[in-house]
Amino acid sequence: MQNDHVGQIYELLDKAAQVIADGLQLSYIEGLAEAGEMYFLEKTEQLPVQEKHAEQLQNLLEKADFRTYEHEWVRKAFQLAILKGLKDKSHPNRQMTPDTIGLFISYLMNKFTGGQKGLTLLDPACGTGNLLLTAANQLSDKMAKSFGIEIDDVLLKIAYAQANLQEKEMELFCQDSLEPLFIDPVDTVICDLPVGYYPNDEGAAAYELKADEGHSFAHHLFIEQSVKHTKPGGYLFFMIPNHLFDSAQSDKLKQFFAEKVHINALLQLPASMFKDEAQAKSILILQKKGETAKPPKQTLLASLPSFANKQAMRDMMAKLDQWFQNEK
Ligand code: SAM
Repeated sequence: MQNDHVGQIYELLDKAAQVIADGLQLSYIEGLAEAGEMYFLEKTEQLPVQEKHAEQLQNLLEKADFRTYEHEWVRKAFQLAILKGLKDKSHPNRQMTPDTIGLFISYLMNKFTGGQKGLTLLDPACGTGNLLLTAANQLSDKMAKSFGIEIDDVLLKIAYAQANLQEKEMELFCQDSLEPLFIDPVDTVICDLPVGYYPNDEGAAAYELKADEGHSFAHHLFIEQSVKHTKPGGYLFFMIPNHLFDSAQSDKLKQFFAEKVHINALLQLPASMFKDEAQAKSILILQKKGETAKPPKQTLLASLPSFANKQAMRDMMAKLDQWFQNEK
């Protein structure tokens, strides 16, 4: 039943994205961003398209009823359309975070934040908003407000359309997240880190984790920036490259961790989830040091099984539950 709804919403998004892309000579992904905004505004006047295209869009608008759709149907429909749109321009750092991972991270966030309510959440590389909205939808009873930052204006526009259509209070900023941020420290950070070199050496100079020579690693600077913008005792959930701790610049990072955070968990995602093993990732969970934050007796280290292997996944959940019982 749910799949029917998702399929119908996907069709609305997909058709509108195609009409807008054809009408305005845009890429499909740009068309999708405009389509999302159109369904939110419930009008077509903002789109300078020819009359025949405006009529097609008006017909689609009449069929749509986003106010009645469940937020997760809308997010999943966007996810399908984004997958289609990002196929032609594949670049690992622009890829959306799939909800298989987002749902697992949301489960972990729920466990780590326990009975806390009214939490603020930041994703400093929010892309299409898929990861941020997966968490915001799953934890809607404990998340008060979210913040997303993204350098790519098209991806951010998709995040903005999604936040509006999924009725989430979200402040979004189109900027380089490694420049100064104008947000108060948050309770929780979630981020699928962009991996690679940061080209702006002058900007990197402000960071403890800058490289001694040459370009710094953007993913290291993102971690430092995220810790800076987290409240003492707040949790950070990162998707990191598996090689994070074995790179040329990792000594400084280890030192930074020892001073600023408690490493709570490092969970390696199954390699089968990634097209290329070199791009395989882990989930790293940190807690910023603070009066009430205690280091875990034992860091949770595990290699996660394939999410499709139900029995192995149940065993892993039991292991996680056991760790929580001992630690939290
Ligand atoms: N979680 C996102 C989603 O579900 O769509 C995908 C995150 S993707 C792995 C990393 C994102 O970081 C990309 O969208 C990229 O454009 C963005 N990015 C890279 N460098 C950035 C910077 N300096 N400031 C802000 N965003 C940046």
